[in-house]
Amino acid sequence: MTTDYDLLIVGGGMVGASLACALLPVAQTLNLKVAVVETEAPPGPGEPVFQPSYDTRSTALAYGVRAAFERMGLWDTLAEHLTPIDHIHVSDRGHFGATRLNAQREQVPALGYVVENHWLGQVLLSRLGRDGAPWVEFIAPAEVVDLDNRSDGCTAVLNEEGRERQVRAGLVVLADGGRSALRERLGIGYSQSSYDQHALVANVSLDRPHAGVAYERFTDTGPIALLPGEDLDGQARCGLVWTLPEDQVEEVLALSDQAFLDRLQQRFGYRAGRFIRVGERFHYPLKLVLAQEQVRAGLVVLGNAAHALHPIAGQGFNLAFRGVTALADLIIERRHQGLPLGDLHALQAFEAARRGDQFRTIQFSDLTMKLFTHERPGLALLRDVGLNALECCPLAKTLLTRAAMGLSEPAPRLRVSD
Ligand SMILES: Cc1cc2nc3c(=O)[nH]c(=O)nc-3n(C[C@H](O)[C@H](O)[C@H](O)COP(=O)(O)OP(=O)(O)OC[C@H]3O[C@@H](n4cnc5c(N)ncnc54)[C@H](O)[C@@H]3O)c2cc1C
Repeated sequence: MTTDYDLLIVGGGMVGASLACALLPVAQTLNLKVAVVETEAPPGPGEPVFQPSYDTRSTALAYGVRAAFERMGLWDTLAEHLTPIDHIHVSDRGHFGATRLNAQREQVPALGYVVENHWLGQVLLSRLGRDGAPWVEFIAPAEVVDLDNRSDGCTAVLNEEGRERQVRAGLVVLADGGRSALRERLGIGYSQSSYDQHALVANVSLDRPHAGVAYERFTDTGPIALLPGEDLDGQARCGLVWTLPEDQVEEVLALSDQAFLDRLQQRFGYRAGRFIRVGERFHYPLKLVLAQEQVRAGLVVLGNAAHALHPIAGQGFNLAFRGVTALADLIIERRHQGLPLGDLHALQAFEAARRGDQFRTIQFSDLTMKLFTHERPGLALLRDVGLNALECCPLAKTLLTRAAMGLSEPAPRLRVSD
């Protein structure tokens, strides 16, 4: 038996689930049937439950994503466990360069918000679980094992705990992450370059309040980011993203907690206070991946399957989310006009419109990483002069801040036009 949908989203991660949530409020009006297929089992029934932990990873959401989450009706729930970023402090350890970005100066409530990934996932998935039926069906645990895309519709084969079945959809969105097996299977080319670095991620506690400050500290072995988080057990908890050369990762992972804290303190300095506790450590090899083909007739590649970037500037999900809202707007518009969703020309126009934002964001992350990682003579001086020049030039600072907040792109509509 084959089940028909208008849209099939492969992957219910942060990107795939965001797209489904963006379409849910208009699905009934548009008579839009959506399926989200996810390999991991869904959370249990009921309202989202927040379980604070030392072992969860966080994402810095740019201020610009807030409007879209508000339109999706998710902001108030999300905000129950968000930490606003009031200041961003960028500095070069051992050198004189530093600059500070400030929400008050930019006249915004926050420069961004730190969310624990599991909370964002809970909010998105429980919304789909609670309000999805009958328009958005979350099919999990199930894996899309084959896909055939054509201009008149796509057919996918699902494996649901050993049983196979077919589904058909006018448009398929591949949001199956950076190791997308379907991208390979479909022969979608991509460029990939390794940074020869790993991101070591952990939660750490400080001996004093973080005061809403996010730090980006450049050191001679790689940048260290510290994101303000919710307090736990009366201690200020921060999300640490420590970029390490490939050959140092194993050694740092193997350190005892105290030796790890000492090493971190020595690398980061005392600017944020004293590090007193660390949770479980995770690590990710860092690569720049960009799919050369992001649309075909009836097919769109989104999120990490389309682009994975260095986490130095915290832009990966933010960039993907702007792609999510732009695609949701296109789907809403075409459905409202009775036009096919998988039309190649419309999807090519979408891709062309997204490439500029992708190019700028990738260049920004890539150049920042290279500028602040290499220790060539003159480079340290150049970046310190740059950081200080930025500190002295309010207009340049505002432009940089607005770009980091994701305000340089058009705001999403996420509604049916009159
Ligand atoms: C260390 C680190 C720090 C980061 N910090 C930030 C930050 O501060 N700010 C920011 O904006 N971004 C950040 N990012 C980037 C962000 O994490 C990614 O952009 C985001 O996770 C991408 O989500 P995704 O949904 O595309 O992919 P994934 O999260 O990988 O989700 C893919 C989903 O698809 C499912 N799936 C896979 N194959 C199939 C299949 N065949 N059938 C069905 N389901 C399938 C998987 O189970 C998974 O749930 C960071 C990344 C790293 C590594």
